[in-house]
Amino acid sequence: MSSVAFLGLGAIGAPMAAHLAREPFELSVWNRTREKAEAFAASNSARVADTPAEAVRAADVIVTCLPSSHEVAALLDGDDGVLAGIPHGALFVDCTSGDPATSRSIASRLQAHDVAFVDAPVSGGVKGAAAGTLTVMCGGDEASVERARPILEAFGKKIVRCGDIGAGDAVKAMNQALLAIHIWSAGEALATLAKLGVDVAVALEVINGSSGRSNSSENLFPERVIGRAFPRTFKLALLDKDISIAAAIARDEGVPTPLIDLAAKLFVDAHKELGEEADHVEAVRVIESKAGVRIS
Ligand code: NDP
Repeated sequence: MSSVAFLGLGAIGAPMAAHLAREPFELSVWNRTREKAEAFAASNSARVADTPAEAVRAADVIVTCLPSSHEVAALLDGDDGVLAGIPHGALFVDCTSGDPATSRSIASRLQAHDVAFVDAPVSGGVKGAAAGTLTVMCGGDEASVERARPILEAFGKKIVRCGDIGAGDAVKAMNQALLAIHIWSAGEALATLAKLGVDVAVALEVINGSSGRSNSSENLFPERVIGRAFPRTFKLALLDKDISIAAAIARDEGVPTPLIDLAAKLFVDAHKELGEEADHVEAVRVIESKAGVRIS
């Protein structure tokens, strides 16, 4: 039996951890807001730890899923921090959508404790997490990724090693840049069609059978934009963070990315305007308000 510690029971972390609360894993959980960990343990087989140090003390594998790499790095320190409890020889798997530079620095701090690191951000949303069908993009040496695989297979369907530490973060950030661009461009297209008096539900159906379609237009817009449901499953604040990481990576590599840079700015502004709790697809509300039209 593998002993696993899961730190960060947020919107996607909780359904991921739920898969690890089953045989053959023995699960301990920690969450900053303890009530969430207690609610999780009330319906899953897991032990609630008081501190990160306590959560990881007997763990073979530690999984984190926090907003950004900075929160993960901060969790290492202090008397109650991960480094105070982590056993030598453990494996640290960070499922946060992080940034490569901070992941490399976390990895080197862990290495000093004889702990291996894999960055393993996920894609597929809370539905994919609940269904256990996430795509997991990994960065790390081959042996560590193979060691992480049985854990990742509990909630992931497609698990791919993208390269060395930070490669998973980089692929995830670029995926998120594409997601942000798809949402924004579909929002602009539909706002224009709405202003023109075209039935947008019909227009979206046509687009989804044509070459302009995307995962956003097919799987997000019908329910959220046409249906105005806007469930809050993935915060706009987190997509803003992701696309800023993508823009920074491109800048560091000297690759001109005017489209990604513009999308990053649009999402920073939308985040400011709509606040911390808005869902990522609600960014279209900003387009609607500037255009003076409601898409649906
Ligand atoms: P949430 O905002 O729902 O949850 C964030 C989690 O991090 C909570 O457990 C929160 O604790 C904890 N946390 C926040 N700040 C700190 C801190 N300073 N110290 C310790 N813990 C902290 O985010 P998600 O679960 O949606 O996202 C988690 C990661 O997964 C992000 O990197 C995101 O980009 C990525 N992701 C999310 C997807 C989604 O559909 N939601 C899809 C794919 C990737 P508390 O309960 O106390 O607030």
